[in-house]
Amino acid sequence: MKSTHYIFVTGGVTSSLGKGIISASLAKLLQERGYAVTIQKLDPYINIDPGTLNPYEHGECFVTDDGAETDLDLGHYERFLNTPTSQANNVTTGRIYQTVINKERKGDYLGKTVQIIPHITDEINRRIKLLGKTGDWDFVITEIGGTVGDIESLPYIESVRQLKWEMGQKILVIHLTLVPFLAASGELKTKPTQHSVKLLLENGVQPDILVLRTEHTLNADVKNKVARFCNVHPDSVIESADVSTIYEVPILMAQEKLDEQVLLKFGLPVGKAPELLKWKSFIEKFKNPKSHVKIALVGKYVELPDAYKSINESFIHAGAVNSCKVEVIPIHSEKINENNVAEILKDVKGIVVAPGFGHRGIEGKIAAVKFARENNIPFLGICLGLQCAIIEFARNVLKLADAHSTEMQRSTTNPVVDLMDNQKNISGLGGTMRLGAFKCELKKDTNASKAYKKAEISERHRHRYEFNNAYLKKFEEAGMVASGTNPDTGLVEIMEIPALKWFTGVQFHPEYKSTVLEPHPLFAAFIKAAIEK
Ligand code: GLN
Repeated sequence: MKSTHYIFVTGGVTSSLGKGIISASLAKLLQERGYAVTIQKLDPYINIDPGTLNPYEHGECFVTDDGAETDLDLGHYERFLNTPTSQANNVTTGRIYQTVINKERKGDYLGKTVQIIPHITDEINRRIKLLGKTGDWDFVITEIGGTVGDIESLPYIESVRQLKWEMGQKILVIHLTLVPFLAASGELKTKPTQHSVKLLLENGVQPDILVLRTEHTLNADVKNKVARFCNVHPDSVIESADVSTIYEVPILMAQEKLDEQVLLKFGLPVGKAPELLKWKSFIEKFKNPKSHVKIALVGKYVELPDAYKSINESFIHAGAVNSCKVEVIPIHSEKINENNVAEILKDVKGIVVAPGFGHRGIEGKIAAVKFARENNIPFLGICLGLQCAIIEFARNVLKLADAHSTEMQRSTTNPVVDLMDNQKNISGLGGTMRLGAFKCELKKDTNASKAYKKAEISERHRHRYEFNNAYLKKFEEAGMVASGTNPDTGLVEIMEIPALKWFTGVQFHPEYKSTVLEPHPLFAAFIKAAIEK
């Protein structure tokens, strides 16, 4: 049973400063020192989870093994730490209120007036301590979404204030802010940071460590000034200068001794600085590629890179193991069709068709699959991407002209992709898909089994539709085979065209499981095939 220390990471001045990356980097450094660390994200919005959010709102929805639809920051946590997260690692205001209101309806509050303090804050505190209670973690890092001063974040900051009293030396607050550079006067400005800390103080929270995002190096004067005005020790003012890849942030934070400051403040032994050998070797490979390939990513949210965060990161990992720079070319699926596909995709060595929902852009995705199949270009279809490959094969090889997914066309006479049986009576949209990790058995001597080098795998799902097994015989006879199947339900999870160089579609999301230290085998095999092409 470990005695857990809690670290909170708050943000000030602006959003998008990278609290998730700072949290993940600190966690990485503590993990390298031998501690067990997990990270949790508290999201101040009222949705129960991001599963119902349009990717334009908050980017990709990340799915955990236990089927939680979560914030994309959890993807960073897993990619940095190489340990799985769960539902307990992501809590939203919606979930907090839902729990409190359900308790109220049951009569659990015994006639009391239910209020933000103490009822909502108690529920926040309970959720924060949930991970610590398992006894598995030396450190729980809790990232508080949003920016200090937002109305939505107030109950969370209040919870931190209360927990500081309750847990004393076991709690630390790191505040991440921005030190902007004014080009006109050539100066770095500390005032926004001062104001942001003042806001925290107004809410009763004194940060212990400040991490300052900056485009230019901060000199000692700037750091001392921040320390003096913000009431922290100068050693606790940590510079976080811009770097070319997020994967350099742990190295930078180690140089800045963020982890050392944390250990000192907790009164824990500091010991030797972490070496990060494997991590550095990954960065070395990533920065010095021996080859270069262009991969087309066909999707309808490509103008927003966060919508495909895990896919893009998986290509960074898969590129590094292959000592290759993977240039992902975003292709908008609504702007591609049978007439322009050859011109648009002429330079790429591999084509990925992205996951997605609904009709928009579907024909563009199908045109991209056709181009990959007819020109023997390595192809990876993910979730809806596999479904597009199935539709394309049915229409153009099996000559079932109206073949479609019933998601897009309910009345098709050839529903080659259809709603799963257990989805037929579901009415609500939130949390009702086929979610989380499922087993999959691989057929020998296929792209899949060669990539995974295993007979059984487990991958994460997020969908309602599936390959319609009534068509399997026809598909296999015509050359598209099921190479991965769920052993419990018989659902087809992977399909391939063995006659082609590397053509594979997967019903699950391999991108959720790719990490720096364990690049995903399918992405790695796809990139290898693209390089050979
Ligand atoms: N819309 C498809 C389904 O629900 C695919 C989902 C996805 O790509 N994640 O089955």
